[in-house]
Amino acid sequence: MHFETRAIHIGHDVDPSTGAVSPPIVLSTTFERDADGGYSRGHAYTRASNPNRERLEAALALLEGGSVAAAFGSGQAATLSVIHTLKAGDHVIMPDDLYHGTRHLLNEHYARWGLQFSYLDMTDAETVAQAMRPNTRLVWIESPSNPRLKIANIVRIAEIAHAGGAICVCDNTWASPINQSPLALGADLVMHATTKYIGGHSDVLGGCIVGKQDDALFQQIRDFQIWGGGVPSPFDCWLLLRSIPTLPLRVQSHNDRAGRVAAFLYAHPKVTSVNYPGLADHPNHDIAAEQMRGFGGMLSFEVKGGQAEAIAVAAKVKLFTRATSLGGFESLIEHRASMEGPNSKTSPTLLRCSIGLEHPDDLIADLAQALESL
Ligand SMILES: *Cc1c(COP(=O)(O)O)cnc(C)c1O
Repeated sequence: MHFETRAIHIGHDVDPSTGAVSPPIVLSTTFERDADGGYSRGHAYTRASNPNRERLEAALALLEGGSVAAAFGSGQAATLSVIHTLKAGDHVIMPDDLYHGTRHLLNEHYARWGLQFSYLDMTDAETVAQAMRPNTRLVWIESPSNPRLKIANIVRIAEIAHAGGAICVCDNTWASPINQSPLALGADLVMHATTKYIGGHSDVLGGCIVGKQDDALFQQIRDFQIWGGGVPSPFDCWLLLRSIPTLPLRVQSHNDRAGRVAAFLYAHPKVTSVNYPGLADHPNHDIAAEQMRGFGGMLSFEVKGGQAEAIAVAAKVKLFTRATSLGGFESLIEHRASMEGPNSKTSPTLLRCSIGLEHPDDLIADLAQALESL
């Protein structure tokens, strides 16, 4: 069966007890034991497992071409589960351009626990090879990266990680499982903020880790999920599962619209640079074209002038909403440096856009009138 078909059917089987076509939400925190003390119906306590989470996890594993998935209450909770597979003294390699929350967690909380970090420009895989240490245990990839849409060569970096005895984990949030399959490219685990494209409606927070198989590494993730307790509610799981059948169509449309907006911005005299991996002169376009099936709905660009000009463009748009986050059907624009705060490494002239599902001509007209006003 084709991917689109499976995305609709996995996790969506008709409820046997009622015939409900849309799955019922099971709010019960506890489940009845059999007379002999067993749990033949599969669930004991909702932190450990829940019917809605089980359906969602099956669908997430399928989307990433894995065989197991663990769902969490946020992307950050999913990231934490990976960090907790490490021990004091381990060394972690991270991209220099990455989700600022991941950097915050490591610097503010895990440095104290004795983890060591290196933040690298991963666009050249050899930089990663040179940074490997005998105690390197985790190489974290985020590609495309946030907010500069740098592309890391997943095949090569996974090889380097494995040669040094480390695992390779890919934050695949921006690409979405429709555009990129890191497990097939050699990553050991995939992480998602399901809050973004998988949820797709800006109305549910979630995260997940997908593994190739139920091996010792994945069992550590599962154990942390169950005992750490950062799990999503049954309703959150239901909302996310509701969104998955439309994911392939949504992402194809995001790709198409973002490509057109990027081309418009690229040609605009008041725009000094556009970061979109689909542009032929993006510095990592070739590797993006090799490892991605589509270039995604995210882009960032820099306007002529300084921070005041960038903020003025964000103030003038009418269709784009000035807000953080991404992956919903509505287009968002954000002055990223002020969102990231005083330690931000992001250029003050950079605006980040999540291109939604509006007609691309309307989005382009909106950006055109905002840039004209500069
Ligand atoms: C949003 C995001 C996260 C964090 O997810 P939350 O659901 O907000 O905790 C992690 N990585 C990337 C790339 C993101 O965009």
